[in-house]
Amino acid sequence: MAKIFGIDLGTTFSCIAYVDEYGKPVVIPNRENSPVTPSVVFFETADNVSVGEIAKQALQSDPDLVCTTIKRQMGNQDYTFYANDKEYKPETVSALILGKLAKDAAEKLGEPVENVVITCPAYFGLDEREATRKAGEIAGLNVLSIINEPTAAAISYGLDVTTPQTVMVYDLGGGTFDVTIIKVSNGVIEVVATGGDHHLGGKDWDQAIRDYFVDQYCAENGTTRDDVTANFELMADLEVKCEQAKVQLSERESTKLKAEGFRVELSREQFESLTRNLLENTIQKTNETMAEAQRKGVDKYDKILLVGGSTRMPQVMKILQETYPQIPIEFCDPDAAVAKGAAIFGVNMAAYPEAREAAGEAAPVVDAATQQAAEEITKTWGIGSGQQGPMVIRNVISKSIALELVDDDGQDKLFNQIFKNTAIPHTHTLRAGTIVDNQTQVHLAIFENDYAAGAVPGDIVPRDDAKLLTDGDMGPLPSGLPKGTLIEIDLKIDDQGLLAIDARHPESGVTKHLEVLLQNVMSEEQLNEAKEQVKGISIL
Ligand code: AMP
Repeated sequence: MAKIFGIDLGTTFSCIAYVDEYGKPVVIPNRENSPVTPSVVFFETADNVSVGEIAKQALQSDPDLVCTTIKRQMGNQDYTFYANDKEYKPETVSALILGKLAKDAAEKLGEPVENVVITCPAYFGLDEREATRKAGEIAGLNVLSIINEPTAAAISYGLDVTTPQTVMVYDLGGGTFDVTIIKVSNGVIEVVATGGDHHLGGKDWDQAIRDYFVDQYCAENGTTRDDVTANFELMADLEVKCEQAKVQLSERESTKLKAEGFRVELSREQFESLTRNLLENTIQKTNETMAEAQRKGVDKYDKILLVGGSTRMPQVMKILQETYPQIPIEFCDPDAAVAKGAAIFGVNMAAYPEAREAAGEAAPVVDAATQQAAEEITKTWGIGSGQQGPMVIRNVISKSIALELVDDDGQDKLFNQIFKNTAIPHTHTLRAGTIVDNQTQVHLAIFENDYAAGAVPGDIVPRDDAKLLTDGDMGPLPSGLPKGTLIEIDLKIDDQGLLAIDARHPESGVTKHLEVLLQNVMSEEQLNEAKEQVKGISIL
């Protein structure tokens, strides 16, 4: 018997929430009484780590023992963080962050935290999603589902899922910018298009202030930029102070920045002009994503939802109002919206165990308060009003899928077959022909890439921009077949985004099945090792 928790495992901050018996999503503050916990881990010793604010402070004294922005490495098996002669994989570092959230929440509520829904960016591929799930497992949690951050945010903004509508989620966090367009109707929440820039976020706004300070410092003291940036102590000090200055400028018209006895005054106006290009970058990405949504028939928006700590900067609301004056903008709880939405989704899952069982997953066993919560949110979130049923989330694939084919000139080229932002599950059948007489083998090679429909002439993808997913040969085909013999190829993507390829020669019944396996995922053995490693670590 247990509650269900929603966890926003963020790049810079993480947050945990649950739904109370009145159907209200509530954030559970950490031990330090903060609703959000910096996603920072300080490996103080081999068996003691601290996570959050204390770890962030240790960045100044022991930067080598502090791991930040681990989310960027999820799904990258080549990455290892080394501290105190020990190795930590991204899943393990994330498990420690999850462990801190779960431990503090359990302490606050007086009951264990087990069932969780964890969120990840919409652009995360299968490997990264699986890594996120594994991080939960390593932390000893029962991961019910991994859902997209913008979807969770949309749910938590009180989306009435019985009213058909289209919302745009503009999420500017600490290290990433994501824009996602979501359509809602009849309990189905569907991602229509997703885009953004994974290396643009609040930290770039901090950097702009830092550059400004360094320029002023150099002018005043007659030193070079290289001299100043080589002063690690000053740079570390500035990292913290510039972020503080930025946060202050969200409330005040000007702020003062002081480091190494040098003071700089910065007005909000100056700050906005220093960072105008960054902001315009987000609008450009938003327009690109809207253009993709338009190709899929979306040309009217009911609202823009603001998510991510950096949307607190007044410049964000201002530029969105200027650029899209006809769309209402909602801003309520940018830090907690994602965790709250994940908790609501989890509780909704509990209310409809049969939907989970139908999907071949075990339904969570929940306590009476959660059952009550489920009934309440069913009313609050519109699902009850004549629309009893589970929330259904539909996703799109984040990469395009290309097949290697020979063109009319006899050249091997990569032709895109399924485009990114296609709703999944999806099946595409291609009818191709053999290229020479008496061909007995057909080589199949499948690639992923970032090119949208029409982005390159003929949808032929430059080979250097594509990644091979899988390949294999079909054959032997019967001998004596003429050139141009029909070969049918099905590319099937399931609702989780897993791709399977079935090729056949219909005349003879010769077939070939290929699957794209998760490539950058911990093995069972590594997972067990990581679980043991984390068990032996005490988290503060
Ligand atoms: P997130 O990744 O969504 O947790 O957002 C973290 C980012 O939001 C960091 O870059 C913070 O500096 C930034 N942030 C948080 N609060 C504010 C604020 N009041 N004004 C400006 N930026 C903020």
